[in-house]
Amino acid sequence: MYTISCRDVGRDCDCVVQGETEEEIMKNAAEHAVKDHGYKEQDIMSSEMREKIKSYMRKS
Ligand SMILES: [Zn+2]
Repeated sequence: MYTISCRDVGRDCDCVVQGETEEEIMKNAAEHAVKDHGYKEQDIMSSEMREKIKSYMRKS
């Protein structure tokens, strides 16, 4: 299971995004960022942003 906490990313948000696989958490994180943080989907899917999201992932 992978998790990303919005707080770790510096967001004032208590949400923790989870996923079984890297692809799944990437998808869930993107959905959350678009829905709740006003990002555009193409911003999230840039390789730079994907690397950033990966660096915040915690495996448990
Ligand atoms: Zn959030």
